[in-house]
Amino acid sequence: MGLEITLSYNGDMEEKLRRLPSVDRLLGESEIQELTSVHGLSRDLVVELVRESLDFYRSEIKKGRDLPATGEIAARITGRAAGLVIPSLKRVINATGVVLHTNLGRAPLSEEAISVMVNVSQGYNNLEFDLESGERGSRHTHLEPLLCRLTGAEAALVVNNNAAAVLLGLSAFAKRKEVIVSRGQAVEIGGGFRIPEVMKQSGAKLVEVGTTNCTYIRDYEAAITPRTVALLRVHSSNFKVVGFTHMVTLEEMVALGKQYNLLVLDDLGSGCPLDTTRFGLGAEPLIQDSVKLGADLVFFSGDKLLGGPQAGIIVGKKALIDKLKKHPLVRAMRIDKTRIAALGVTLLHHLKGEATVKIPVWQMISMPLEVIERRARYWAESLAGMARVIEGESLIGGGSLPGSSLATRLVAIGDPQKPAQTQRLARILRSQNPPVIGRISENILLLDPRTVSEVDDEILIRAVQQALRQAVKESQG
Ligand SMILES: *Cc1c(COP(=O)(O)O)cnc(C)c1O
Repeated sequence: MGLEITLSYNGDMEEKLRRLPSVDRLLGESEIQELTSVHGLSRDLVVELVRESLDFYRSEIKKGRDLPATGEIAARITGRAAGLVIPSLKRVINATGVVLHTNLGRAPLSEEAISVMVNVSQGYNNLEFDLESGERGSRHTHLEPLLCRLTGAEAALVVNNNAAAVLLGLSAFAKRKEVIVSRGQAVEIGGGFRIPEVMKQSGAKLVEVGTTNCTYIRDYEAAITPRTVALLRVHSSNFKVVGFTHMVTLEEMVALGKQYNLLVLDDLGSGCPLDTTRFGLGAEPLIQDSVKLGADLVFFSGDKLLGGPQAGIIVGKKALIDKLKKHPLVRAMRIDKTRIAALGVTLLHHLKGEATVKIPVWQMISMPLEVIERRARYWAESLAGMARVIEGESLIGGGSLPGSSLATRLVAIGDPQKPAQTQRLARILRSQNPPVIGRISENILLLDPRTVSEVDDEILIRAVQQALRQAVKESQG
């Protein structure tokens, strides 16, 4: 009896497998043909996609599912093809109000920075070629003069990102030696970048001193041994210790370093070149100040408050930078021509004092509240009764200015009593072209004009109108 049931079950399954359409039959479907005729995929690739989908349904049928309709199989194939031909990385509209959103690509670039990237990558360039002598040059020469002017440092070196920069600095100077860090600065800044782990990779031994909330210069001094080479300061980036706290100043560290002949390394994280208090923000340590106060090496990112492309920048004493340039890791961490070009233009914006006019990050930070209010009202009016303007705050993000925010106006959509509806609207907005990313607070969807380029206002409004219509339709059906 049991055997019979199994047999008829298997027979049923085999019948289904036999009735699956053939590769040729699927290749004849109009939407599959269009993959070649309209979207330009090769026949071989389309055949591969067809075979993969048939394999998928075969194994599903073996697990007990029903025979799929030919239309369903074709839809799966075209869906897979779309996954290949539509770029995975695409532009989105950041309406979260977080200026430096690491998940949304951090700093957008200035128009001039973008055009120079296009310019140097369309053809050849003098990346490592000395035009005067006609001989081999160095990619490090393009940015160093600009960085020295901007920060007041003797020398500079640019690598792939700041995590690489810190790893390089520690590998070059602290391998098998001790580096003293305040316990309150042995931080994780997100995305797996943990200071203790980077130090381990470099071969440096981390010596933590003080407590989470209080570290004094005498704690550093007491930890110095014959194996100590450096004192490291790390910007706490994404958190703030409040209340009873004490942190050692860079001046104190430099003085102690001088006394014991130790290097003073400063991981600034964001690396801010402009006084943030001018814009109503808290104070962020300035790169120029770290150099002036005598840090030997200062490390920071290119795509945080500098407002440029991804890069890790090291500025400081010439003898040390010269040594770093010869380190074998530099080759493994180098940045490409397009980013060198964009970073150069970004540094020039700062040097010319035009950051708040030309660099998107600084345009957003300095955007007058009246402008934000006017735009928020316009957005809300265009959404005819579905949205209201409320007061709120924009964040800087990107591991800078923790706990510091800018007053803004937000367009609020949704009913706080209906969280599922708000989630649905946010999801539909993310599926628009381009996707619009908002933030949800207390079950309401919030859109902040500060981080949306004004030229995208109409695109955003249309996307929200469309998403609201779709959300209503979904909730009815
Ligand atoms: C952001 C940050 C880094 C890492 O910089 P990337 O450019 O993202 O590699 C390192 N240290 C601190 C303190 C940071 O805030």
